[in-house]
Amino acid sequence: MTIGIIGAGQLGRMLALAGYPLGLDFLFLDKDSATPAGQLSPTLTGSFTDPSLLNELARRCAVVTFDWENVPAEALHQLAPQVRIAPPPAALATAQDRLSEKQLFKQLRIPTNAHAAVETLQELQQATQTIGLPGVLKTRRLGYDGKGQAVIRSAADIAGAWETLGSQQLIYEAFVPFDYEVSIIGVRSTRGEFATYPLNRNLHRDGVLRVTTAPWKAPALEAAARKHVRRVMEHFDYHGVLAIEFFVRRGKLIANEMAPRVHNSGHWTIEGAVTSQFENHLRAILGLPLGPTTAIGHSAMLNLLGDMPPRAALLAEKGLHLHDYGKSPRPGRKLGHVTVIESTAHKRDLRAASLLRRIDRRTIGRSKAAD
Ligand code: AMP
Repeated sequence: MTIGIIGAGQLGRMLALAGYPLGLDFLFLDKDSATPAGQLSPTLTGSFTDPSLLNELARRCAVVTFDWENVPAEALHQLAPQVRIAPPPAALATAQDRLSEKQLFKQLRIPTNAHAAVETLQELQQATQTIGLPGVLKTRRLGYDGKGQAVIRSAADIAGAWETLGSQQLIYEAFVPFDYEVSIIGVRSTRGEFATYPLNRNLHRDGVLRVTTAPWKAPALEAAARKHVRRVMEHFDYHGVLAIEFFVRRGKLIANEMAPRVHNSGHWTIEGAVTSQFENHLRAILGLPLGPTTAIGHSAMLNLLGDMPPRAALLAEKGLHLHDYGKSPRPGRKLGHVTVIESTAHKRDLRAASLLRRIDRRTIGRSKAAD
């Protein structure tokens, strides 16, 4: 059975790596020919809206899924009459627009920060008054990893932020002085089975995920997050994996955004949970029984950004699991990740801090004296 995947990035690659042992095959669609997933699996290369490529994808695949949010709606419109798409295109459309996403959170009574749509400088000025300062001006579409965002700390920043982002649909939202960030990963199958992974605690730097530690033991937060993700999934009659990212402030969740796909904060589940988010996404969209989402030990996942530390240095770390996505280096680019698993949360946190320090300073693999 062949699964079609639109987008052949590292998420697609890890889906394929999880699916081959189950006897599944994959066919990707991507505009680039050199991709992380294309190194593993056949890929149709060209425009995402090319009717002949979409027809071929539909003809050869039992179900079509995606590995990124920005799949053009037009591609899904063309595919929908021909092949089953999971997760549902409506969830994707909502996640593609930060305003619709926030409106959905409100509709489903999921707490989120104050926000307003902004299309003119006057509307921005108005929004900074009604919502207050500081705030964050974001593009409604195509933003990711903190790109397309400007923090407005005082009235003096308004003109500059408008100049940088102004000529598109925007959202202005309250800046949340959060204590920390978490995410929940839910999975719901075509058989209606629902499960969540243990809560992830996420450390971002410059808007990009740097480290995830899981399970993050915060039972009340986890119960609330589980309720929220379930509500979103039921709303869409959702099939597959969905992640919601939250700010935590004074012991309460504030929803930031959702991702209708497997998520970077769930990479630790490959080695750190009984069944990975990638395998469970495939099981869910195929109507196979879900696997247990239970954690095995205490995991930390660190993204490798910009350049890869020497492979031998990473592999000299006891028990470290390396994932190299096969991408060429570029400043800030996600090139891979590593996961370590420890027997206690305390040991895990110490290990993660040490690894992060040494990866950041590029001293991993050198003698202690050089650190
Ligand atoms: P996003 O692309 O919205 O996930 O933003 C990336 C990161 O920027 C978040 O994970 C936060 O660390 C930070 N950020 C985004 N929006 C806000 C906000 N309203 N208040 C505080 N920090 C934010």
